[in-house]
Amino acid sequence: MVVVMDPGATKALVDAVIDRLNDYGFDVHRSNGVGTVLGAVGRQLDFDLRHIKILDGVKDVFRGTSPYKFAGRTWHPDDTLVDVDGVLVGGNEVVVMAGPCAVESEEQINETASAVAAAGARILRGGAFKPRTSPYAFQGLGEEGLVLLRSAAAKNGLKVVTEVMRPRQIDIVAQHAHILQIGARNMQNYPLLQEVGRAGLPVFLKRGMSATVEEWLMSAEYILAEGNPNVILCERGIRTFETATRNTLDLSAVPVVKKLSHLPVFVDPSHGVGLRDKVTPLARAAVAVGADGLMVETHPDPPQALSDGPQSLYLDEFADLMEQIQRVAEAVGRTIFEAREVAA
Ligand code: PEP
Ligand code: MN
Repeated sequence: MVVVMDPGATKALVDAVIDRLNDYGFDVHRSNGVGTVLGAVGRQLDFDLRHIKILDGVKDVFRGTSPYKFAGRTWHPDDTLVDVDGVLVGGNEVVVMAGPCAVESEEQINETASAVAAAGARILRGGAFKPRTSPYAFQGLGEEGLVLLRSAAAKNGLKVVTEVMRPRQIDIVAQHAHILQIGARNMQNYPLLQEVGRAGLPVFLKRGMSATVEEWLMSAEYILAEGNPNVILCERGIRTFETATRNTLDLSAVPVVKKLSHLPVFVDPSHGVGLRDKVTPLARAAVAVGADGLMVETHPDPPQALSDGPQSLYLDEFADLMEQIQRVAEAVGRTIFEAREVAA
């Protein structure tokens, strides 16, 4: 921690701050120039800087080290590779997760699964437990949705990612999913984070809609601190003053987080922008900026979708997106899984 004293702070005030820092367990190194700067080392990660900020004569206080230890690169410089039942996330391949916002029927999820697999997606998404703004909106098919999702994925050689909203759903979701998704609205639901940290499956952690990068990484820390190293981060847009799009997709978060953390970083342009015609351009940009993967909503009949139709791509638009990002991936030295023939 670095403490900058007011240029006019008296020696007595500086000494009082040093005494306080010593009381809190810091070793203090003092530099005198125009004013005084104190370098304080040796305290635990959770120290609240405001204890020092409020002292007389203190102009500003900065943290010298990050408040997380497992999520940061300091102790873990190499990129984390998450093995999703044989699909490696966080390596050179840009891994694509695609599917409808919600599982609605056997026909809908089967048609989507075979189309996204044929276009080169690796992981099938689809909500069975949906966090909806309105309690009157479709809440998902629950366990039936999980069964349909897993079976559609299995028929098409795909893995499954799906959201879990509360601790008591974890067991049932974990029976059908390869990755547990924590939605934006639950990014700071700490008991849920701890429970998924103990569940033994990779966790897909979406950024909260008003969360700073540091808060997001602290949420990852909750999962990692439970002994689960397999966390995938996902930028999905944040709330800003802008109303032209549903959220503001913060693509700058990708290189920012890649520098701070070793965890794979995905981008979800669908929730990030909320409008179908802007999903593909932002997917291209996400790959260009270094995303390790994408999550994209797609539906056989978006106007009839029970949730998020306006941001869901038609299946042929999804295939087109895959072709476009293939070219971007090549340009930035990454690969995308080849499209293949799969059973219907
Ligand atoms: C979703 O992926 O279905 C979802 C609800 O996204 P978010 O949590 O980012 O809003
Ligand atoms: Mn959605």
